Amino acid sequence: MPPRARSAWLRTLGLLVLILAAATAAGLLVGQLFPVLAATALGVVAWHYWRLRKVLTRLTARQRLAPSNGKGVWNELDRLLYRSQAEMRGRKRRLMEMLRAYRAAATALPDAIVVVERNSQRIQWFNESGTRLLGLRYPDDIGTSLVQRLQPLPLAHWMAAGRNAEALETMSPLNPAITLSLRLIPYSENLWLLVARDVSRLLQLEQMRRDFVANVSHELRTPLTVIHGYLDMLDPEEQPDWAPMLAEMQRQSQRMTQLVEDLLTLSRLESQDRLQSEEVVSMASMLNTLRREALALSQGRHDIEVDDAVDLDLYGSGKELHSAFSNLVSNAVRYTPAGGRIQIALRADDHGGAVLQVADSGYGIPANHLPRITERFYRVSTSRSRESGGTGLGLAIVKHVLNLHEATLEIASEVGRGSVFSCRFGPSHVRRRDDAADPARDDRTTSTC
Ligand code: ADP
Repeated sequence: MPPRARSAWLRTLGLLVLILAAATAAGLLVGQLFPVLAATALGVVAWHYWRLRKVLTRLTARQRLAPSNGKGVWNELDRLLYRSQAEMRGRKRRLMEMLRAYRAAATALPDAIVVVERNSQRIQWFNESGTRLLGLRYPDDIGTSLVQRLQPLPLAHWMAAGRNAEALETMSPLNPAITLSLRLIPYSENLWLLVARDVSRLLQLEQMRRDFVANVSHELRTPLTVIHGYLDMLDPEEQPDWAPMLAEMQRQSQRMTQLVEDLLTLSRLESQDRLQSEEVVSMASMLNTLRREALALSQGRHDIEVDDAVDLDLYGSGKELHSAFSNLVSNAVRYTPAGGRIQIALRADDHGGAVLQVADSGYGIPANHLPRITERFYRVSTSRSRESGGTGLGLAIVKHVLNLHEATLEIASEVGRGSVFSCRFGPSHVRRRDDAADPARDDRTTSTC
């Protein structure tokens, strides 16, 4: 007990003893000990009840009551209650101020924020941008179903995925020129936050960047073809002194042409969300082509093994798949020193899918480079890539082609021992030759490389 409370307690106890002693003395003096004592005790009890009532009044009063002066236990209790009430009021005021500040911040955000009840998917609150971007109206839309309110947007399925829902890009229901990126964030047991961001400007910039790269590449194509043509016409035997320079110029113009072609391929791949058309891609013939290309590139410097005993084909774009696989094969040859081994194989996996694997016993890739290896122009060693005639775009092309085929690229590599690049295709892109294959898909043309 704090000293102040203890002394109040002792003071009140002492006062009670004094009153009882005085009452006993007075009772004995008038010869009526018990009646006097009983009357005094009743008085004391009545006084305590009166003080108890005062405490109740304080606890239930709406306005602030100042604590009474005095040093007894009831005054101390009164003072303590007054202090804790003042502290509570202060805390409440600070909390309210914080809440107001958070609300003001959420209201001022340029992104639309909607608080949605998880089970009923009813709207609980939204900010001003919710009105601007999603067309929600206050107070009419509070309590209405979000999915029904934003009807044209495909939200029902998306919200059903809940925590796992990926960001959804869709048009604003108010203005089709605005593209929104929607994200669902569960933030408590039964509340979700829907965040809608206007990404129109970003998409426009991204499109401008793509157009710029595609146009520049396209414009470079003609001058490069002309330079390349004239260089081919020059005969090094007529000017032997010029022979090494001519060879270098031819090599560099060849590299520039390859760079422009790769940039154009990437632009074309980037402009597609999904494959324009699908065909049955004969993998036996694809593996044969890859073998021929690997042998031509290697010029007998490597041991090349192609396992072409396959009983499956792929559905997709033959041209794009060939461009991806031949990039992997070309990398395997270029990044494996002479005498190394390169293996190319296609096999079914345990889940009805298929894996095309290109393995080499080459230089390998340090683990810290692997996460970024498929970025454009990312190279482990710039000089080695340049020497080998690389453009730095090969793996970016591979990744885009695989994305279009809903496939993934897995890379396992060990420095000094080699690398394995695996393209993993799902069952929907695999056709087993002995299967009663999907007749609708088999109607499509068959491509051979
Ligand atoms: P590049 O045209 O430079 O080969 P890529 O996009 O094809 O560009 O490859 C990116 C980088 O990844 C290369 O520069 C190289 O460092 C590394 N790389 C790719 N394939 C292999 C491989 N099979 N073995 C070792 N390193 C590789």
